[in-house]
Amino acid sequence: MRDRLFIDGAWVAPVRGGSFPVIDPATEEVFAHAPAGTAEDIDRAVKAARRAFDEGPWPRMSGRERAAVLRRIADGVTARQDELARLEVRDNGKPLPEALWDIGDVAGCFSYYAGLAETLDEDPEEIVPLGDDRFSTKVVREPVGVAGAIVPWNYPLLMAAWKVAPALAAGCTMVLKPSELTPLAALELGAIVAEAGLPAGVLNIVTGTGPDAGQPLTEHPGVDKLAFTGSVPTGSKVMMAAARDIKAVSLELGGKSPFVVFADADIEAAVEWIMFGIFWNQGQVCSATSRVLVEASLYPALLERLVAEAAKIRIGNGMDEGTLLGPLVSKGQYDKVLAAIERGRAEGATVAGGGRRPAGLNTGYFLEPTILTDMSEDSFVWREEIFGPVVCVKPFGDEADAVRLANDSRFGLAAAVMSKDRARCERVARAFRAGIVWINCSQPTFTEAPWGGYKQSGIGRELGRWGLSNYLEVKQITAYETEQPWGWYIR
Ligand code: NAD
Repeated sequence: MRDRLFIDGAWVAPVRGGSFPVIDPATEEVFAHAPAGTAEDIDRAVKAARRAFDEGPWPRMSGRERAAVLRRIADGVTARQDELARLEVRDNGKPLPEALWDIGDVAGCFSYYAGLAETLDEDPEEIVPLGDDRFSTKVVREPVGVAGAIVPWNYPLLMAAWKVAPALAAGCTMVLKPSELTPLAALELGAIVAEAGLPAGVLNIVTGTGPDAGQPLTEHPGVDKLAFTGSVPTGSKVMMAAARDIKAVSLELGGKSPFVVFADADIEAAVEWIMFGIFWNQGQVCSATSRVLVEASLYPALLERLVAEAAKIRIGNGMDEGTLLGPLVSKGQYDKVLAAIERGRAEGATVAGGGRRPAGLNTGYFLEPTILTDMSEDSFVWREEIFGPVVCVKPFGDEADAVRLANDSRFGLAAAVMSKDRARCERVARAFRAGIVWINCSQPTFTEAPWGGYKQSGIGRELGRWGLSNYLEVKQITAYETEQPWGWYIR
């Protein structure tokens, strides 16, 4: 494990020399220390990225040349899939099969954006018809410049890849600030990009806390664009910092996503997707479908099946075979989730299942999969993101009632609908005010399709060609194509 920052292609100690402990949430043991970057390190990293952008080869290479490096990064990730996945389990707590899945997606993300980098060569300029034949206009796309990326702890390396891969494909240079709770795999990415031949300074990785390393990155005048994934309050701070210097900004924030289940749905399929939608990754998923709305006639039977099946989910250390639910990421997150459940109880909700530390697991931030019912529409647990394995289940009357309840939120990241009536699913999908809608499933995510939210869930889209556009400027080049005098002064 690494105790240095990755700046300008080299491993360097933080200027102030500090470090912070990294805790395994399954054992509560400190198993590593990571370098504590501060404003001085961010300044070094941004200056390196600036030089690499202004003077280095990366933005000037063809898309094909950049694609070759991106493919080598993907190969480097694949070659170390097992090692990286195990690091993520210790850092984050998630079950090993999920971590292996994430790292596979990281490699897939770099390969996908290698392909899009090549399309930039195939399509270097677009002619814009003007309706005035004295002029010609073409449009070219160019990298935005130096990007600052700040990412959370729930998918540590994958959230980084969603930003690093398109930024590099576009020809940008970058400073990446991982979450202080899960810094280790991101540092390994430094070694992988170096082996892949990425020029020095193109990707710089500075670990540290939000206030000490994240905030200086958002405020640095050498940064052209900020890409942030995390909570709404921090996203708001990032946007305010960006506003001062008019930096481009994209935000992927929280959610309280609804899952509407109609009475004609297959009850076993509904239980499977509801559980996956909220218990996968311990419910620490921005798009988790944490509000389940069930048509009244199905509600009692579905709730009974859900409570029965959730109680069977195997909880344990993410490294143990058969574990489906690991610990929450940290003591802070654990206390926050327990406090939310207590607040739910105090506000009148019923704990229909779970809600406690599992028997026999006395160490580690473990919590039973929790099902809440009978909460009011204005209660905390119904309205606010809990970011843990806690689902709120509520009955609804008809389709209009379901859509109203689903959309009554300040968030708009994702939504899901389940019914055998496909026309109804399509209708409800259109009615949802959310950026990601699933029909007859919840959570499957594809690198090719846009990801992002309406309302307070964010600004902009990651993934797909939309993710590449985040890192491209649009330039028009207009030429006067005649020798005739313009006629304003010379007549
Ligand atoms: P967070 O906002 O606490 O932290 C996110 C990152 O911001 C961390 O790297 C942190 O160090 C940094 N940070 C903290 N304060 C900062 C500041 N003042 N200036 C700059 N950076 C600062 O969020 P978290 O707890 O790490 O992640 C959970 C949140 O992320 C949830 O709300 C979740 O919904 C959201 N999330 C969203 C998506 C999405 O795609 N929409 C994906 C994953 C997570």
